[in-house]
Amino acid sequence: MKIHEYQAKKILSSYGVPTPKGVVIEAPSAAPGTAEALGVWPVVLKAQVHVGGRGKAGGIQLARSVQEARDKADAIFALRIKGQPVRKILIEPAIDIRTEIYLGIILDRIRKMPVILVSAAGGVDIEDVARDTPEKILYLPISPDLGLHPYHTRRAIAFAGVRDSAKHDFANILNGLAKTFYKKDASLAEINPLVITGDGRAIACDAKIVFDDNALVRHPDIAALRDEGEEEPLEAVAREKHINYVKLNGKIGCIVNGAGLAMATMDVVKHFGGEPANFLDIGGGAKAEQVTEALRVITMDPSVNTIFFNIFGGIVRCDLVAEGILTALNNLPGFAQKYPIVIRLIGTNDVKAREMLKGSPLIAAASMAEGAQKAVALSNRK
Ligand code: GDP
Ligand code: MN
Repeated sequence: MKIHEYQAKKILSSYGVPTPKGVVIEAPSAAPGTAEALGVWPVVLKAQVHVGGRGKAGGIQLARSVQEARDKADAIFALRIKGQPVRKILIEPAIDIRTEIYLGIILDRIRKMPVILVSAAGGVDIEDVARDTPEKILYLPISPDLGLHPYHTRRAIAFAGVRDSAKHDFANILNGLAKTFYKKDASLAEINPLVITGDGRAIACDAKIVFDDNALVRHPDIAALRDEGEEEPLEAVAREKHINYVKLNGKIGCIVNGAGLAMATMDVVKHFGGEPANFLDIGGGAKAEQVTEALRVITMDPSVNTIFFNIFGGIVRCDLVAEGILTALNNLPGFAQKYPIVIRLIGTNDVKAREMLKGSPLIAAASMAEGAQKAVALSNRK
């Protein structure tokens, strides 16, 4: 789960990371008063959206007067940043930037431990730095046994060339970042840029935290920060229905039982030249109600023109799934005429299930490969 910059800064600040003291506004009319109340000029106005690269898109603007604060707020609220409308702006005293450093902690799945990333080339996309000048990034794995140690901090400071006056702040920032990462079960905690100011202090100018969805149950305070307006709308609907759904960009809506099989189904669809419209794991049951909801969710995506069911009856019996699908189609009149549905059903009671589906508009496939090929051919129709 992602959160906004202003929320991330608040969490980091509670763990001792120096951050600017800002205020969030939700309408341009609030900008002049809010900026004035900060009591310093210039101020910076920052679009709060769940996508990076706000600076380049015009979502970060300095204002030197009440009038400018209003004008810049108008301009930022009118933006769409990578398709996202701007609903909130964070207004902060502007930081006097001398240098920009990148500091992040990510969970490295290859090393199987959290890794600190440090670079003196901050303020730009770290992905670009990693690609073009990988030598400018230092990777410091944190041993799960030992946690953060002073040597991490010393090496990070030396690599990033942090000046003496800012070393103490920098150490507090790395400590706070690590605490946030561990205590809140983050998969990413990043400050880009970490700024060394004109008067030689270090401060978090930007902040990004991504939390492990599977750990949210033990962090109700974090779960409450979810901003549904920022999420893929179909994914929000699906989550409400307890359907495990990720939107993708193709035309073939996939309904699969089991996450592993769902991943394999997407691979096979791609292998035969198609593009899946989604990842969807319908879970163990595949009852009529669940199948109906799944069909509803995936066809809310206007690009979907074909449906591919891929069901393995291991724990669940295929005849129950078939019954679920037939009932679901009864619940959705006209559906089968609009969307060709390919189905591959295999496992317990599959013969009986296929018998039940005879006479229905469903297009049966004997194997996953055959099903994927049929779905791809149908999705390419005019
Ligand atoms: P991002 O583009 O979404 O990563 O947003 P950031 O918060 O990282 O801001 C992008 C860039 O805007 C920074 O790298 C800075 O160069 C600039 N910027 C952001 N905040 C301030 C500020 O308070 N003062 C100044 N002078 N520049 C800022
Ligand atoms: Mn940034």
